[in-house]
Amino acid sequence: MQAMRLDRTSRLDVVEEPLRSVECPDPIPATGEVLLRVSACGVCHTEIDEIEGRTPPPRLPMTPGHQVVGTVVREGPGCRRGLLNRRVGVAWIHSACGACSWCLEGRENLCPDFRACGRDAPGGYADYMVVGEDFAYPIPRAIGDLEATPLLCAGAVGYRALSLCQAVNGQSLGLTGFGASGHLVLQMARHLYPDSAVCVFARSPAERDFAEQLGAAWTGDTTDPPPRPLDAIIDTTPAWLPVLAAMQALAPGGRLVINAIRKEAGDQDVLAGLDYDRHLWREKSLSTVANVTRRDVVECLRLAAEIPLKPHVTAYGLEQANEALLSLKAGAIRGAKVLQLL
Ligand SMILES: [Zn+2]
Ligand SMILES: [Zn+2]
Repeated sequence: MQAMRLDRTSRLDVVEEPLRSVECPDPIPATGEVLLRVSACGVCHTEIDEIEGRTPPPRLPMTPGHQVVGTVVREGPGCRRGLLNRRVGVAWIHSACGACSWCLEGRENLCPDFRACGRDAPGGYADYMVVGEDFAYPIPRAIGDLEATPLLCAGAVGYRALSLCQAVNGQSLGLTGFGASGHLVLQMARHLYPDSAVCVFARSPAERDFAEQLGAAWTGDTTDPPPRPLDAIIDTTPAWLPVLAAMQALAPGGRLVINAIRKEAGDQDVLAGLDYDRHLWREKSLSTVANVTRRDVVECLRLAAEIPLKPHVTAYGLEQANEALLSLKAGAIRGAKVLQLL
């Protein structure tokens, strides 16, 4: 089979083709694993973090890719879910231990043995890949291969953030930052909570326009005060100012959920302005989102089919993976980038 492989970590502005096309034997599914013929694999910012060494694969070479859609063409010994010939998706969670306290309470995203697809195990930038059958999810028929891929990462993580908001219909919601995850979360929120006003805070007028087209009740800049205090806000920005602004915008008992893998140090000094009365008092709370669980992926796919949620995608060939990554890093075009293999 053909695969795109990362041999060593490097900065994308220094090495423009960090992934190398290789011919290698097809993987063989072990006990409880299935073999997928990959038809599409999404390209994610996390791959740039892997390539540039911020979350490097523990072993190299490694095949990236964690938003994988494919057909199960072979089952390993002991498979019992009957996935053969089914179209399935694979997400960031490639496996978890299944035995620790987090796994046992359904928070396998926090498992100390969490293994990430395309970082800790070979992912979907390849014709074939293997994964435990319990970590492969049938894709609803209403969703095409290409449009399913962003749902497996931005969609599922966004769904998790929305769940952690513990919102009920009618409560007001906010989104600060409006990127790949934000525009999917807005559509999920509008469907799940039809009587809730969703306010979007974004620096760019183009993003604010897009949010309004998708049904945001109000849009403003990062620090603009919303028309009324909000019951929950999801932050997807890499900065700290939006965190402070969001804490201030929360109603009593309000929840801020940070859905960002890391925060940059650039404006960290604004935290010195954290004021107990303005930002925390009256039982405001703050939490973060890490990884995804299988349940998040399954529920996101089900919800996406129901809405229906059809992310905009731009397709690239497998050999164009480097080009797709560079274009993603440049951030020029709206819509998810997807490698189309079939
Ligand atoms: Zn991702
Ligand atoms: Zn575990």
